[in-house]
Amino acid sequence: QTDKGKPLSPEKAGFMRVRGAREHNLKNIDLDIPRDALVVFTGVSGSGKSSLAFGTLYAEAQRRYLESVSPYARRLFHQMSVPEVDEISGLPPAVALQQQRGLPTTRSSVGSVTTLSNLLRMLYSRAGEYPEGQPHLEAEAFSPNTPSGACPQCHGLGRVYEVTERSLVPDDTLTIRERAIAAWPTAWYGQNLRDILITLGYDVDKPWKDLPKKERDWILFTEEQPVVPVYPGFTHEEVKRAIKQKVEPSYMGTFSGARRYVLHTFANTESASMKKRVSQYMESTECPVCNGKRLQPASLSVTFAGMDIGEIARLPLSRLATLMRPYAEGKAAQSKKEKAHPERQIVTQRIAADLVGRLEVLLELGLGYLLLERSTPTLSPGELQRLRLATQVRSNLFGVVYVLDEPSAGLHPADTEALLSALEKLKASGNSLFVVEHDLDVIRSADWIIDVGPDAGEHGGRILYSGPPDGLAAVEISKTRRFLFAEKTILHREPRKASGWLQLEDVTRNNLHQLSAAFPLGCMTTVTGISGSGKSSLVSQVLVELVAAQLGMDLSSEPEEGEALEQAAPVTLGGHITAGMEQVKRLVQVDQQPIGRTPRSNLATYTGLFDHVRKLFADTSTARARKYDAGRFSFNVAKGRCETCQGEGFVMVELLFLPSVYAPCPTCHGARYNAQTLEITYRDKNIAEVLELTVDDAWTFFEDEPKIHRALSVLREVGLGYLRLGQPATQLSGGEAQRIKLATELQRMGRGDTLYVLDEPTTGLHPADIEKLVVQLEGLVNAGNTVIVVEHDMRVVAASDWVIDIGPGAGEEGGKVVATGTPTEMAKAKNSRTAPYLARFLH
Ligand code: ADP
Ligand code: ADP
Ligand code: ZN
Ligand code: ZN
Repeated sequence: QTDKGKPLSPEKAGFMRVRGAREHNLKNIDLDIPRDALVVFTGVSGSGKSSLAFGTLYAEAQRRYLESVSPYARRLFHQMSVPEVDEISGLPPAVALQQQRGLPTTRSSVGSVTTLSNLLRMLYSRAGEYPEGQPHLEAEAFSPNTPSGACPQCHGLGRVYEVTERSLVPDDTLTIRERAIAAWPTAWYGQNLRDILITLGYDVDKPWKDLPKKERDWILFTEEQPVVPVYPGFTHEEVKRAIKQKVEPSYMGTFSGARRYVLHTFANTESASMKKRVSQYMESTECPVCNGKRLQPASLSVTFAGMDIGEIARLPLSRLATLMRPYAEGKAAQSKKEKAHPERQIVTQRIAADLVGRLEVLLELGLGYLLLERSTPTLSPGELQRLRLATQVRSNLFGVVYVLDEPSAGLHPADTEALLSALEKLKASGNSLFVVEHDLDVIRSADWIIDVGPDAGEHGGRILYSGPPDGLAAVEISKTRRFLFAEKTILHREPRKASGWLQLEDVTRNNLHQLSAAFPLGCMTTVTGISGSGKSSLVSQVLVELVAAQLGMDLSSEPEEGEALEQAAPVTLGGHITAGMEQVKRLVQVDQQPIGRTPRSNLATYTGLFDHVRKLFADTSTARARKYDAGRFSFNVAKGRCETCQGEGFVMVELLFLPSVYAPCPTCHGARYNAQTLEITYRDKNIAEVLELTVDDAWTFFEDEPKIHRALSVLREVGLGYLRLGQPATQLSGGEAQRIKLATELQRMGRGDTLYVLDEPTTGLHPADIEKLVVQLEGLVNAGNTVIVVEHDMRVVAASDWVIDIGPGAGEEGGKVVATGTPTEMAKAKNSRTAPYLARFLH
């Protein structure tokens, strides 16, 4: 029933109604959002876009959905956070395509995420060519993750691991006592093995290479496990005498061959660092039975278009699409055998058509260079999000709201157009789209803009505008307006002259083949190109590794729990630096890797400013009277922290059948410290309250503490003033983590001669913040350093001294230097897909 005479109120005309939203920094906002539209949330970083789109709208949709499916889940949700909002009506079910924030990586591949692997298995099972007399196989026999499909030799891993004398004994001039057998455990267990060898009569003081082969083989490879008396510190003669005289041994020791120890530890240890340690002593080779294809022989004997399923999974998606198209259209050439089975042809056509349909969307999103077998942890967050997006486009869902987080991340402007058309398709099938975005092209194509701001944190959280894009032009307070409607505002500056060139030759990695590239020293260089062209392979992989190797730095990091070590195939690294290293004294890579994967690390601990804060607390008179030192104020140290949650602030609640949830600690209620520690205050705030401050507020609070104040200033300068000091690393986006690293570096900056490498630092940054970032990068170069940035944002490219454009295409169609030059020269380059976009910024 409608009230006569009154116009339809918004929610009746297809609007969602939000009243009293207060999540995080949102200022009790009321808002109506259209359905079946592309809605883009804009505003500076930290203004509250995600708090609204994800924290409120998506969270509420999710909560309602879970409530409707499971009363059990409902009970749990009382422990979990419910968004702070009075009322939301007209909200459809939601699907989030969020970029992961430091989530542990799961073991999956492009094929499994897109479900293309399932289709291919079905194709091989039902329409493959089987050798004469071989029975048909179920689809699962084509999956290496099932017992019926896995190669029996390598258990579906594709690689076999072995140890050799060389891998176990890297330096054979050492004696056993000097730890020739590097693979042996360190500390006590290693000494134990040595003492057993002494009892057994082996010479542990002779260089390894001078021991007889028979002895060397036994020590390394025996499967025997003799148990012998051990007399630590005795020589073999003394041991013999002791046994004769029936002297009681210290203990009985069990010997284990080095191979047995390494393989057993690798297969069974729960500790990622142990696993990593022993993996150094193993050599992995492609499995000789399946040739790395991970499947059992019968499955590999089935072919389609002359290829087994392992071969087909190694085609780039674009080639796979080309191969499948004729089958989808029923135009493929047929053998006699095939003609005899018309039903098989129908099956083939149906599956091929489905495959091609899915592939087309992936190609449109610029992902045609990916291989099905590529593992998802090696993809960038942006690539992964677009894979999921493509999968959704084909899912035939409607009436859903898709919530996306900066889908343009990692996209060259040429690829952004394809992204928009995929979003358009989802909308055309009757869905709504909420997109948090900074990219001006995406914002311009929105049906509706919601501009949040005006600034970050406390100074944001208001809705400045909600309506069609044009209307934002009238909203003066908006920080987005200036960029969306302003004329080109590029400060034109003479490019700097190189003080030398860092020359790379013969670079071979991924899609780069014997490439040469030169980077000007003392300048800022941007490396451009469409996604998949090879920018990261060149800069973040090869350049970083070569420079690190020359500087003698160790880049290997501790593996995180759950990391799939056994899947990491070795990479071929080709290339060397032929000039320029004399001007590079230090390398700093500022990447988007999380600054830590546990809530124990946070902004304050990572940047080192927390050390100073803890000293201030230890210096208060009460703390001194109680003899509390700085360690007392660390939530990682037993003395001061809350024992119930061990300083985490929350406890994990294990649930049957569902992922575990975190609930606030019942003792400290999230404060992380014990009551005695919290009694100490510095200028009326206890340590937990200080960790709750935003960088901006802390900047005022610590005005008189130069060291802390300086660190906070730099954080503000990179646009992180809105973050709280104690914000756990796990809540930070990749872009935020990167800016924290940058700020930490800027604090240390000084001497010059440092090479800074950044991969897409503008991710997650509003144009206003990008301006600040460019100023920071300029500062680094002015101080005599070199900056190399992989970047899609043309403002950054225009502001650089030198541009290297990689391409022309993606994957094997890329990998070449298309053009190099100053931004002005580059804007005129023929063949470069970057040139026209850059030209728009330079007159
Ligand atoms: P945007 O998406 O616009 O960058 P956010 O919505 O992420 O901004 O952040 C808005 C404000 O809310 C910031 O001050 C931020 O520090 C705060 N915030 C974000 N996530 C959380 C959280 N999980 N807990 C508390 N505050 C948060
Ligand atoms: P860009 O940085 O320009 O987007 P990349 O250097 O990431 O391009 O990728 C170039 C090519 O190398 C692509 O075909 C990509 O699939 C491949 N590639 C990149 N990283 C890996 C990896 N870790 N393993 C396998 N292939 C990779
Ligand atoms: Zn195998
Ligand atoms: Zn606690």
